[in-house]
Amino acid sequence: MLTVFGTVALDTTRTPFHTVERTLGGTATFSSISASKYVPTSIVGIVGHDFPTSYLQILKNLLDIRGLTISEKEKTFHYDSSFGYDLSKRTTNKTELNVISNYQSTIPDEYIDSEYVYLANNDPMQNMNVLNLFSKPRLIICDTMDFWIVNKREEVIKMMNKVDGIILNEAEAKLLFKESNIFRCARLLNSNGPVFAVINKGENGSLLFYDNEFYPLPAYPTEFIKDPTGAGDSFGGAFMGYLSQQGKIDSRTLKNAMVHGNIMGSFAIEDYGIDKLVKISSDDIKKRHEKYKEIFSF
Ligand code: AMP
Repeated sequence: MLTVFGTVALDTTRTPFHTVERTLGGTATFSSISASKYVPTSIVGIVGHDFPTSYLQILKNLLDIRGLTISEKEKTFHYDSSFGYDLSKRTTNKTELNVISNYQSTIPDEYIDSEYVYLANNDPMQNMNVLNLFSKPRLIICDTMDFWIVNKREEVIKMMNKVDGIILNEAEAKLLFKESNIFRCARLLNSNGPVFAVINKGENGSLLFYDNEFYPLPAYPTEFIKDPTGAGDSFGGAFMGYLSQQGKIDSRTLKNAMVHGNIMGSFAIEDYGIDKLVKISSDDIKKRHEKYKEIFSF
């Protein structure tokens, strides 16, 4: 079983072309929906009393949501961000932690034996606490972001020591180590615990570091982008989902997982929030995978 822990959010996303308010988002939402295209996936997180039942139903249709707590007292985590015309650089307007602040995570008994655990971007302390609830996962991967690197850097480093792999974006990796070279960042990530590190570079692709080798991969060419929110999480979910499906870690499997990460990331940004992710079929993924192979083989 694959279990994903992270935020289930209401996102307000502003682009020069359109604004969506309080749409279904969050790191656990994007990554678990993406992972569910590969293996059955369960989600652990918390939402507030303002979380619409229609969103709950969407999650229920796709995932095992027995690990999702609904707080009667507090509001759902809310993230407000804007993008400029190039839709690549995000500015955070507001991070309202609400229900996340004092969340003491619990997991249903059925999740304790999960072999695969994905710690989507969340408070690193909470990530470490939730890890203690599982009996002995075979593979643990985490993500993080600037908010936690700035506010809880020590804890982020500690969390890295407890995982097998880490996925984060270029700016976050550079911020974490105050290091400008992406390859050196990858080595630093590896020397802090994880056996493999993935650094995402948006439309410039991604870099895998494993077994003392660098593997840079191009992004899937995406011509029509509506909302880049969730690209990283969808990448992470697909990466983890694919590894869980394959049940092994070697450079070939990791590279393939990167390709699936790129493909799911490319789908996520083609519509607002999770709209595209919920619509795509395994056939759509297969077609994009074939196309990726065709473009990049020479
Ligand atoms: P990304 O894949 O990086 O675009 O992640 C976007 C998601 O991250 C949004 O749906 C937000 O709800 C969520 N998010 C934003 N800030 C935080 C934070 N500090 N901790 C956890 N999740 C966050």
